[in-house]
Formats: sequence, C-alpha cells, structure tokens
Amino acid sequence: MEIFHISAECYPMAKVGGLADVVGALPKYQNKEGHQVRVIVPCYDTKFYSQNQFECVHTGTVKLGNFKFPFNVLKETTDQLGYELYLIEIKELFDRPNIYGYEDDIERFLSFQIAGLDWISQRNSIPDIINCHDHHTGIIPFMVKYAYKYEKLRSVRTVITIHNGLYQGWFGFDKLHYLPEFDLMHVGFLEWNNSLNSLAVGVKCAHAVTTVSPSYLNEINIFSNGLESLFNSVRYKSKGILNGIDIEVWNPSKDEMINENYDLSTFVTGKQKNKEKLCEQFELDPSKPLFSFIGRLFEEKGGDLLPQAAALALSENFENINILILGSGNTEIESQLIQLRNDYNGNYNVFIGYNEELAHLIYAGSDFILMPSRVEPCGLNQMYALRYGTVPIVRRTGGLQDTVIDFGDNGNGICHDQASVGDICYSINRAVKLYPDKAHFNKIIEKGMETDHSWERVCKEYIEIYNLIIQQNEV
Ligand code: ADP
Repeated sequence: MEIFHISAECYPMAKVGGLADVVGALPKYQNKEGHQVRVIVPCYDTKFYSQNQFECVHTGTVKLGNFKFPFNVLKETTDQLGYELYLIEIKELFDRPNIYGYEDDIERFLSFQIAGLDWISQRNSIPDIINCHDHHTGIIPFMVKYAYKYEKLRSVRTVITIHNGLYQGWFGFDKLHYLPEFDLMHVGFLEWNNSLNSLAVGVKCAHAVTTVSPSYLNEINIFSNGLESLFNSVRYKSKGILNGIDIEVWNPSKDEMINENYDLSTFVTGKQKNKEKLCEQFELDPSKPLFSFIGRLFEEKGGDLLPQAAALALSENFENINILILGSGNTEIESQLIQLRNDYNGNYNVFIGYNEELAHLIYAGSDFILMPSRVEPCGLNQMYALRYGTVPIVRRTGGLQDTVIDFGDNGNGICHDQASVGDICYSINRAVKLYPDKAHFNKIIEKGMETDHSWERVCKEYIEIYNLIIQQNEV
C-alpha cells in the first residue's frame, strides 16, 4: 500500500509535542510491514534541517488568492529515519524558528497543504491513502474530493487522525478564495458555526476518523470545543487507536541521552545512578522520592494546578520528597513555578524551556511522573515513564485512563479522578507511603516496564482501517 502522512510536526525534524512522536514513529513501523510510506512536513528552520542533507525533487508555486508562494519539495537523502521524509520549503512562511504561533498560521498551513497536494498529484503513482494529522492538514480531505485541480486524486482515501481536538484552525469566509477552485455545491462541508473550521472539514470529508485513544473518542463526543455533535454524527467512521511508542528511541537499555543504561533486571541500580545525576544537576537529595512533571504548562495539562499542588505537597512532606518540573507555556504558571524555588530550595527545582535530553534523563531518574491533565487525548509521557520504570501518577482521563491502572487494583500506577490540587496531593501522599515498601514498589515498576506499547500492534490497527476504506465504494 502506498501511504502519505502529512503533518505539521514529525520527530526528529520538528517537535512541539506528542504529534511529532507519533508521525515520527508510525510510518517507520508501517514501512517495516512492507508498505511504502512517505511523510510530508513543512520545512522549518530546525536543528535537524540544518544538520542533514536534502535534494530538491519538485518545484512549484502555491496560489493563495492574490498571493503567490514559490515552494520546493525537499527529500531527506540519508534515509536514516526508516521512511522517506519530504519537506515543503516555502521560505517566506516557514523559514522561522517556531512551528506555531504566528499571525499568518492560516496562510502558512493552507499553503503547506496545497503545495503538498500539488506535488502528490503530479507524481506518476497515485497513493492509496493520505493520513492527515490534526487541523493543520484538515482541508486536505475536502480538496482531494472536490478541488478541480486534484481530479487525479479522487480515488485516494483520506484519514484524519485527531491528536488534539481543542485546536481547530478556524478562519473566516473572507479567506475562502485561498482554496483552489472547487464545486460550490460542496461549500457546506467547509462551514461550522459560521466559520471555516479546518478540523471540522477534515472530520466531515475524510473517509475515516481516528483518535489517539479509545477513551478520547468517547470524550470528544461530550467535550470538544463545539464539535461534539459533529463527532457524534461520524461515529460510524471513527475509531480510537491507542498510540504506541517508538521503543527504539525510548529504550532505557540503549538510550544515549541518559547517564546509565538499564533494563528490567538492573533497573534498581540503573535508575538510582540516573537519579543521582539528575539530583546533582538540580541540587536535590537522591535519597528522597523524586516526583517530576514534563510537559506544556497549560490548563489542559493541569499546569495551573502544579504550583499550588507542589507547594502543598512540599509543605506537608517537606523532609520527604523532591519535585522537579520541566516545561514551558503559560507565563503566569512559569513565574509561579520559578517563585517556588525560593521557598523550597533543596527539595524543588524547575527548568523552564524545551529540552529533549533532559526529558530522557528525567524519565530515567525519577520515581514518579505527575500527569494531572484535564484533557489527555493519549499522552505519551506515561508510556515513556512506564518503560523507564517511573511510576505514573495520573488523572483518569483520555489515554491516561486506557494505559494506567491504580496499584490498588493491582496496576502499574497511581490514579485519581479530579483535576484538583487536593486529588494530586492525595496521590502524592499515597506514593510517599508506598515508596519505602521497596518490594511492592519494585513490583509496580516491573509491571510498568513489562507493558507492551510498541507500534507493531498499533500499526496493524491503522492498516485495518486503511484496508476497510479502500474496499468501500465512494460515499
Ligand atoms: P502533548 O502532545 O499534548 O504535548 P504528549 O504526552 O502526547 O503531550 O507528548 C508530549 C511529548 O513532548 C513527550 O515526548 C514529552 O517528553 C515531550 N515534552 C513535552 N514538554 C517537553 C519539554 N519541555 N522538554 C522536552 N520534552 C518535552
């Protein structure tokens, strides 16, 4: 089967969060299964881009209303990723340090989608599947079906995978003329609540919709920032598929970013050495249980609860615990977290920013990872933590609910129900009591490390959906 993944992020080329990890791994495993898989992402000014070689395989111009953007399609030449990676180079729009957050994001990602389809449609072979990811690529299923210039692609089946349904890529109908000409009879597919909603367009027009966990599929029917009724109406073509993790990248026995490699038989000493390194770096005491958080500091992740929860947990257990936070996001939350350093010096520290290496060391050297998320479509942190022998403390929601079971039910982690300071502290206190019981604690760790979250299994579920929609007659 010939498959294209098209996405705003792909690790290691460009990463903000879990979307990158998924698009950087799923194609590799689909390729291993014998499919021909290509990934298309925008060409940002990232470290990966500057350190690797690319050849130009196509040149064109995107017309966006009166704007014209020349573009190149660049192929990564070393083939080190396990799939073919193509970058859409539109210098004016993407040659910038950040991936998102610009005033012209709508123009940027529309141009990206059009350039991607222009290139795909002039190739000799027509793909079987285009798997779009999140709202940045949500207009593709519409264009494949209805834009006159992509007539050649009408047989292609499209899938939209929802990694985060809160962000939807809205824009006004004043920008409708940016889209390539299409049969106006179908303009209704573009509309949601009087605006053009990229995610809604993708969900309406794709042949299949997937979410990154089964529980998240249930949740978006109840809460998805205005798209609830839409998600309900497309249940017939939707499936929740729990993400896998790239066990080659996330492997404590081989990980070059950590201080000491270890596996199931050596985790006690291995983790302690990583913890010592981490504690030395952040002036913490390695004899105490270390609770960490890694992620975007936003309400969605429960980031707003962290400063108060950390302060309360530290004051209740001052002599007994360490807390370490790695993240960035809301500046108010960031400054509250920085402020806490003054009160709990020696038991608490924070690194504001994005740091891939440090994240690996934290997974390896921590005892517990905190995930107090309000919304968690899948969540990868808890799966990395489990693989690295770090016990996840999670709020039961989305993918966290699908992957972490409370140790009271013979599971692999600690769970609570509410996104509240009280619930987080209650879980931390349970962890503090569990920690000295090494036999029990190590059993829980072993259970986590043994869990199979590899992509092999997950990959088959995607292929099943692709096969299903390929066999269907056009709807
Ligand atoms: P989301 O995509 O919603 O941010 P996920 O749990 O799906 O959350 O994925 C988060 C990914 O981003 C993980 O690989 C995590 O390690 C990484 N990550 C998040 N914040 C940081 C950070 N500040 N530094 C390094 N890695 C981070």
